[in-house]
Amino acid sequence: MNLVVMKFGGTSVEDPVAIRRTADIVQGRVKNGKSPVVVVSAMAKVTDQLLRAAAAAAQGDRTGALAISSRLRARHRDAAAELVKKNPHCAEIIDLVDQEFDSLDDVLRGLAALLDLTPRISDLIVSFGERISSRIVAAAFRERGIHSVHVDAREVIITDSEFQKAAPVDHLIETRAQEKLLPLVKERKVPVMGGFIASNEDGTTTTLGRGGSDYTGALVGGALAAEAIEIWTDVDGIMTTDPRVCPDALRVKIVSFEEAAELAYFGAKVLHPATILPAVKKNIPVLVLNSKNAACEGTRIISLAPHCKSPFKSIAVKKKLSIIDVVASRMLMTHGYLSQIFAIFDKHRCAVDMVSTSEVSVSLTVDSNAALPEIAADLSKLADVKYEGKKALICLVGEDIRGQNGMAAQVFAAVRHINVRMISQGASEINMSFMIEEDDADEAVRSLHAAFFQDPDPAVFDVEARKQLEKAASSL
Ligand code: ASP
Ligand code: MG
Repeated sequence: MNLVVMKFGGTSVEDPVAIRRTADIVQGRVKNGKSPVVVVSAMAKVTDQLLRAAAAAAQGDRTGALAISSRLRARHRDAAAELVKKNPHCAEIIDLVDQEFDSLDDVLRGLAALLDLTPRISDLIVSFGERISSRIVAAAFRERGIHSVHVDAREVIITDSEFQKAAPVDHLIETRAQEKLLPLVKERKVPVMGGFIASNEDGTTTTLGRGGSDYTGALVGGALAAEAIEIWTDVDGIMTTDPRVCPDALRVKIVSFEEAAELAYFGAKVLHPATILPAVKKNIPVLVLNSKNAACEGTRIISLAPHCKSPFKSIAVKKKLSIIDVVASRMLMTHGYLSQIFAIFDKHRCAVDMVSTSEVSVSLTVDSNAALPEIAADLSKLADVKYEGKKALICLVGEDIRGQNGMAAQVFAAVRHINVRMISQGASEINMSFMIEEDDADEAVRSLHAAFFQDPDPAVFDVEARKQLEKAASSL
């Protein structure tokens, strides 16, 4: 059936220009004999604004909340009117947008009276972003000649009731996708649904957590055994490192699921690590593509990447981290000591990134600084504690370092001029991470990139782009 799931992020549907570009991309796929199922995010920044409206209402600022909603209404109405100009059903889509905003305003008014913003109400409020964007995109596609049909994602993506970060119920999603989406696809129609939003078995609105539209894409792809899941964003794909730091960065053409997950976790914000799971389980390739540069072939993420001559695929950096040193000469390594330390982080709901232990100390890194004084106060009941901010974690990822001798020597030789605070090589054996001062991060990345991507494997990296740049530079 050539079924592909095409997920478009907020910037790919942010305004009429972007939505038309998205329509052309989908139409191109249809013309090539593919059967797309389209998943869209809310228009760019809308989720944040809805959360702001919710926060205002929860503080009793009814006018402020309704003002945000009214600006959003105008933005969506204008986009709809612009996109469905020629369509005789223009009034219908504007009406639908108005109905959705009327319900949103009802919720905001209720909240401003009750002043009780529960996770459940928060999910209801943010859900309007994808509910409305998906309706507008479906209508715009029809205007462009695509046989699109709007599908309410909440009838397909069924989750538990953990509002704001609900977990999908796979077997129900599979049944619903086959009941609600497959018949449309078989009639050669293009279903368009919102990402991120879902419902529990009782039909109450839930969400999959921030950035969850990729997750929706992967869930739908998994449920329908799609041949590929395309994640359309505004970057060319996964890069060897951040091109703003290192202009020499190259596009990575192919990575394994495991590598992509490590990179996502370490701040290469191309996709959500959880996205990967439903696709990995079913062996479905995920493609990261750029809706502003549709000709670029992006990055292909597959379960087993081919052997690569370069040891690393990419260098990720996570900044704004803190390091915490816990020193307890008497207690360390006694039974239960580490679990007591972790229990404190758990109590403050603070995720630990990297841990390293020695005979007398444990060092941990975290990326939320807010709770640190309280965490330190709790830890100091067990041991001596010091913490320091402004750290960065550099993480080199690549499957081909498995079993290679001398990798650490090469990595640390490349950054020998930089003071390294903490080192870890994950059990996965596909990443090497170390922590340095944030101010040294850019320099470290450039040195590592120069050391490891001087002669990149053309099967894995887009060396053509670099050659063209060099050619252009030499003809100047
Ligand atoms: N709109 C949601 C967010 O901003 C989900 C997404 O775009 O993936 O978090
Ligand atoms: Mg996103």
